Amino acid sequence: PNSPRTALVTGAGSRRGIGRATAHALAADGYAVAVLDLDKEAAEEAARDVAARHGVQTLALAADVTDADAVDAAVAQAEAALPPIGALVNNAGITSPVPFLEVSPAEWDRIFDVNVRGGFLVTQRVAAGMAERGFGRIVFLSSVSAERGGGVFGGVAYSAAKAGLLGFARALARELGPSGVTVNCVAPGLIDTDITQGKLDEARKAAMVADIPVRRIGGVDDVADVIAFLTRPGSGYVTGATYDVNGGSHI
Ligand code: NAD
Repeated sequence: PNSPRTALVTGAGSRRGIGRATAHALAADGYAVAVLDLDKEAAEEAARDVAARHGVQTLALAADVTDADAVDAAVAQAEAALPPIGALVNNAGITSPVPFLEVSPAEWDRIFDVNVRGGFLVTQRVAAGMAERGFGRIVFLSSVSAERGGGVFGGVAYSAAKAGLLGFARALARELGPSGVTVNCVAPGLIDTDITQGKLDEARKAAMVADIPVRRIGGVDDVADVIAFLTRPGSGYVTGATYDVNGGSHI
């Protein structure tokens, strides 16, 4: 696979987010990048930002990952404008720190819709083409919350949804392995993004850092670098795996 390929990164609009850093990392690897986000202006700004910094082809896609028709239309747009999709990073996600006894059925569904159904819809739409072409790299953003339960930003619904992605990725890795498509999860710990910014006071932050063996909160590039590895042609013998990027906070 030396021909140019496209990476589709969902939720890459947020300027300080993991998705944006991933879009940059994959562009630096030579991928053309399709940036999909709920927020149209953010997606457009991200597409300009990635193109300006790396000189690769980019495209902004405004879509809600939970909307099957919108996902279908967005992927069709990417297929028409860019090289074949070789990598998909299912990064769009939302947290829900609601205590269990206060979780409404609607809140539960909302968290599963974006984190799990969104990954299902985008992946199903993209996977057929990857399998047909005999090459694909699919990455899901799980979370340390799936492994150790809860945490400051992830309640029960979030932890369940992110754990759901682990099973999803493992089953899909078995199905798509014979077609040259790998499927892996990255499970970040506490990462400095809009999700976490400003929500911790200094004392709380210091206590959390003291419990992380590498003694710092993670940066978006810590996560993006691992995702970039998993989307390279050379990572073809890694599938069905979960990569923890948490500074050792869950060992
Ligand atoms: P973020 O909030 O900075 O960015 C998320 C992006 O997803 C935003 O641009 C938002 O517009 C987009 N988005 C939300 N709902 C969408 C939808 N329905 N359709 C399309 N786009 C949608 O988040 P982040 O901190 O960069 O996190 C990225 C991923 O990593 C998420 O899946 C998150 O659960 C996971 N994660 C984050 C952390 C952390 O500490 N920040 C830790 C573990 C896992």
